[in-house]
Amino acid sequence: MPSPANRLSQFSESVIRGMTRLANRCGAINLSQGFPDFDPPEAVLSALETATRGPHHQYAVTWGAPRFREALAKKINRNTGLHVDPDQHLVVTCGSTEAMMVAMMTACNPGDKVIVFSPFYENYAADAILSGAEPIYVTLNAPDFGYDSGELAAAFDQKPKAIVVCNPSNPTGKVFTRGELQEILDLAEKHDTYVITDEPYEHIVYEPHVHTYACSLPDAFDRVITCNSLSKTYSITGWRLGYVLASPEVIAQARKVHDFLTVGAAAPLQEAAVAGLELPDSYYEELQNLYTRKRDVFLSFLRQTGLPFTEPQGAYYVMVDISSLGFADDSRAAEWFAREVGVAGVPGSSFFRDPEHRFVRFHFAKKEETLRAAGEKLLRLADEAWLKESIETFGRE
Ligand code: GLN
Repeated sequence: MPSPANRLSQFSESVIRGMTRLANRCGAINLSQGFPDFDPPEAVLSALETATRGPHHQYAVTWGAPRFREALAKKINRNTGLHVDPDQHLVVTCGSTEAMMVAMMTACNPGDKVIVFSPFYENYAADAILSGAEPIYVTLNAPDFGYDSGELAAAFDQKPKAIVVCNPSNPTGKVFTRGELQEILDLAEKHDTYVITDEPYEHIVYEPHVHTYACSLPDAFDRVITCNSLSKTYSITGWRLGYVLASPEVIAQARKVHDFLTVGAAAPLQEAAVAGLELPDSYYEELQNLYTRKRDVFLSFLRQTGLPFTEPQGAYYVMVDISSLGFADDSRAAEWFAREVGVAGVPGSSFFRDPEHRFVRFHFAKKEETLRAAGEKLLRLADEAWLKESIETFGRE
């Protein structure tokens, strides 16, 4: 038997997607893989109906349907104050997942180093390795998930080709401040490093925090490769629509990578998603209010369980500290949550570079009724007798 490529032994299958399968098998409320259980905006749904009868069933322009790119550029310009040109600065991709792979393959040569903040969304290390690069790590320190400037500078001293910044951050909920982004950009400038950002939660930020687009900071545009997605903003994770935004020089190369990876994102869906991109500013305010309410509902249940957690500043994930439950590791704890509590989360260790088994990540991108149902189940943790009996019967290892 021939053996598959060596690089594949350096990472495993996605734990996040695996937890969704476990949740489905045991009928748990699925707060593991982050996606909504509510519908996209009405305007988007009705545009989808129209698009199915339109002339959009063959390949779109490989780097994105013109109407979609135009609407996208307008929205980006409104949000960032930049002058993004739909023909020069954008490649439309199959989700931010493909955008990140394209960015990494566009930036990196085999053997290059890529800085990744740990904990990190599990794709980043895999993306770097698939591009032939080597991830090196800078720690985001619990509980507030700040980084140490000295550690960051030391990582830059290793002459990385790129740094990945997920902002707002999955899984920590950290929102990078303007000052932090400027510090990263200054180091990137000094060491001639690309800054690859992943910003699908740009519109899910909780007051008083604000989202800063790294690419919009002074003189940053040529150095930043922004990856983004429509998944979270319009509740269309299954549509797989994302994009890379960068300088014309980077985009000229990124188009090639994208073309040979996937040819293009689904043409009718690009057409329909224009209705989302054209929604007024009030849509984004409502989205922010909606998620603020969801966060408040879910956190109020979590608070009653007595388990410590960090309040997210943005995105829709909470890292819950489960160390007091005494499990041998977080995977066993996550299995107990899914099977015995009836609420699925993701074992936190899948986001960390170093062995760290203290956390389970839950998300709250769900209808309020789903969050309340999950919350009621989680409240059983406050019942000490039930908790002891349940964990002892289930087993800690
Ligand atoms: N971003 C989502 C999460 O972290 C999932 C994305 C995906 O599975 N592609 O759960």
